[in-house]
Amino acid sequence: MCVLPSGSIRHEKGIQVIVSVVPGTVDLPAETLRLAVSAVSDAAGREENQDIALAIVIGAGAVTGGGEDFLLVVADGMGGEPAGDVASQIAVNALRDAFPELPEGDLGQALKQAYRKANDAVARAGIEEPAYAGMGTTLTSALLHGKYATIANVGDSRAYLLRGDGLTQITRDHTFVADEMAKGRISADAARNHPRRNILTQVIGTAPKLDSSLPSIFELTLLPGDRLLLCSDGLYDPLDEVDIRRTLRGQEPDAAAGALVALAKERGTRDNASAVVAAAFPTRVPAPGTLPGEASRTGGVPGTMVAAAISVLLILVLILAVYFLVMQR
Ligand code: CA
Repeated sequence: MCVLPSGSIRHEKGIQVIVSVVPGTVDLPAETLRLAVSAVSDAAGREENQDIALAIVIGAGAVTGGGEDFLLVVADGMGGEPAGDVASQIAVNALRDAFPELPEGDLGQALKQAYRKANDAVARAGIEEPAYAGMGTTLTSALLHGKYATIANVGDSRAYLLRGDGLTQITRDHTFVADEMAKGRISADAARNHPRRNILTQVIGTAPKLDSSLPSIFELTLLPGDRLLLCSDGLYDPLDEVDIRRTLRGQEPDAAAGALVALAKERGTRDNASAVVAAAFPTRVPAPGTLPGEASRTGGVPGTMVAAAISVLLILVLILAVYFLVMQR
């Protein structure tokens, strides 16, 4: 098992580039799954990057038990320079701080609590500093615990699942057009080009308290070959489903995340572009003798072997008894 370093953030000429995890892998001995994650964020079509993309191992610093769980986050800040990138950074820090290790119990509930803290922190900063007034951020995240993924969302950043050739949007945007679509008032095509498509109905940090129904929580079980993508609107807006499917399929997460951001730029995105990719690979077939056999489920030594050994012993004792009886005559 290899343990990944924590996320790093570097600034280049006002462009915030985050490559949070040097792509790496974690072997899960009890599962038939190997996870690898990567995060890429780029100012892309703008001067400043107000997106944050993060993919870290949870509990990597722990003496034991760390290194098998991941936190993935995409936050897309808003509120103009400098407030937008402040909002996304505060929210991501709050999520990161909420999970020094994976909590026991319901991960959806844990994410809900973490989102409340993120909202409080962004809202408080907006009140305390007049320059930050009204700032907010989207916040899409995933906790990966082995093959189990728990996803939380506020805003219009998204989570997608690629399984086989099928791409599914896991999250539902908190936007005016998504609400209209859900009510059957407009089609998906109309929503894509709607003049009000950028209007968010829910966001982190603009209200003192987060709506009690938020964040939206989604749970899924990853299968070998699956790809999970978290991304900002600057990434998915200029791409279609075929682009996303083709770029995600069969690629290592670092290559896929980089290629998606590059493609969004190539297609002329006018926004920041962020992609966090998690890949579930089937584990290698273990070498003979490295895994406990079937019999270990019932206590170590197979019952049939014990029975055979006892039978052989009994036969030997019988032969010896007969031999001594014959000799004594
Ligand atoms: Ca954006």
